[in-house]
Amino acid sequence: MRELSEVLRDWEPVIGLEVHTELTTLKTKMFCGCRLSHDDEPNTNVCPVCLGMPGALPVPNKAAIQSIVLAGLATNCQIMRHSMFYRKNYFYPDMSKNFQTTQGPVAFCMNGWLDLEVSGAGAAERYRDDEGVSFDADGGYVAHVGIERIHMEEDAAKMVHIGGVDGRIDGAEASLIDYNRAGTPLIELVTKPDLRSPEEARLFMEKLRQIFLTLGISDCSMESGSMRCDGNVSLRRRGTQRLGTKTELKNINSFKSLHDGLEYEIRRQAEVLEEGGTIAQETRHWETSTKRTLVMRTKETADDYRFFPEPDLAPYDLSDEFVEDVRSRLPELPDARRDRYVADYGLRRADAAQLAGDPDVAAFFERAVEGVGPEMARVVANVVINDLAGYLNANGLTISQAKITAEQVRSLAELLAGDAITSRQGREVFELMASSGRDPASIVDERGMRQVSDASALEPIVDQVLASCPDQVAQYRDGNRKVIGYLVGQCMKASRGKGNPKLFNQLLAQKMG
Ligand code: ADP
Ligand code: MG
Ligand code: ZN
Repeated sequence: MRELSEVLRDWEPVIGLEVHTELTTLKTKMFCGCRLSHDDEPNTNVCPVCLGMPGALPVPNKAAIQSIVLAGLATNCQIMRHSMFYRKNYFYPDMSKNFQTTQGPVAFCMNGWLDLEVSGAGAAERYRDDEGVSFDADGGYVAHVGIERIHMEEDAAKMVHIGGVDGRIDGAEASLIDYNRAGTPLIELVTKPDLRSPEEARLFMEKLRQIFLTLGISDCSMESGSMRCDGNVSLRRRGTQRLGTKTELKNINSFKSLHDGLEYEIRRQAEVLEEGGTIAQETRHWETSTKRTLVMRTKETADDYRFFPEPDLAPYDLSDEFVEDVRSRLPELPDARRDRYVADYGLRRADAAQLAGDPDVAAFFERAVEGVGPEMARVVANVVINDLAGYLNANGLTISQAKITAEQVRSLAELLAGDAITSRQGREVFELMASSGRDPASIVDERGMRQVSDASALEPIVDQVLASCPDQVAQYRDGNRKVIGYLVGQCMKASRGKGNPKLFNQLLAQKMG
């Protein structure tokens, strides 16, 4: 297969995503009062409704509908005042009703969009060539991605395959079913086929996750499957308009798999098409271990499901009052928060976006910068983005699991901003602080790290260095200003790293100047 960057010269990928998100933060299931928890003993949160017993009647969960309307408002959707639930009929052992309750042609949320900021870095991956897209100096651009709909449905039960490898069904001896998950409220967002690269698909998924986390409607864990997506992709010759036949990568559970699976699929399709073959419309599975996609099944059509309106649920009418009440609960969304950080603190856009993208990190940052000016806020942002994020990553922790408090980060930032310690020492203090939970000031004192920022204590060192380096002093006076770096280094050495380098610099310049 040809490399992606080569394929992209000839072919334009067209990608659409279907993203399933379980509303894990709700207390009860979609159509019954059973407790929503996947951690309980299997088959303990069940009742006639979610077990699909004949005659059991569903009752929609109002909180779930509030959540989907929140999701719709946050993604610029039109909130439909009238919609209905439908039955999607099929047999599957994890779906005892033999149909899934979902929505029909009209969903609660229709016709939304999200704008993605795609950076110019890694330009081989950037290959949008629609007219109307403008590129910045670095090749970055904004991709406008349409959202077809967000509809409400319910999750199936969970199958546990035993006796095989890694819980896979192949080679398993038996399958067990845990109905605790059956009837979990699920929202499915379907994009228009507006994405043009694996990178854009990944960015879309990341952005959606950040928004849903900020809304608090789901824990959005791709690892545990509460957020997962299907990636649809087809190719067309550059410069042509007609959509090609798509394949669908099912149940992708990480950003990396989404990116890598789509990349593989694009390269595979290009090879088939270039050899004169045709693409079969089929569902495929991205196998991480072998880094390839395998056929799961050829595509069913909507007709196969015999969709029809659910007779046990009345058509759903949303009042303006209901929608406005939900709108009033919309929190500040990541893009708005990013812009506020840029405006209030002068943070770099990418840094601000990183902080604003995770609501827990944003709350932490805001606690740490309460009442401080922009300059200190930038130091705090640096500590959070570099030291804290690195530490969390390396240790597989979330910010709420870490021992560090916002107050400690602020104290560390104060020590840095006041030149009490160097940035290198700052990193060291951070590590100690993170592992012990102790305050930075006491770590600095205990280790004797505090920088000497008292001019009278540093002057004798400066005098001594100047006396021992007459050549460099002469060069400086001849206009070679860079030589001062060498002299600062000598001063730092003489002070055994404790002198404040900025102050040394000032004193040296004064005395030579
Ligand atoms: P299906 O009924 O096969 O699930 P849909 O029309 O519902 O197909 O579309 C599912 C997803 O596939 C949507 O995100 C849509 O944007 C995307 N899609 C549709 N047609 C194409 C195509 N030719 N190439 C790539 N993606 C497509
Ligand atoms: Mg589909
Ligand atoms: Zn139930």
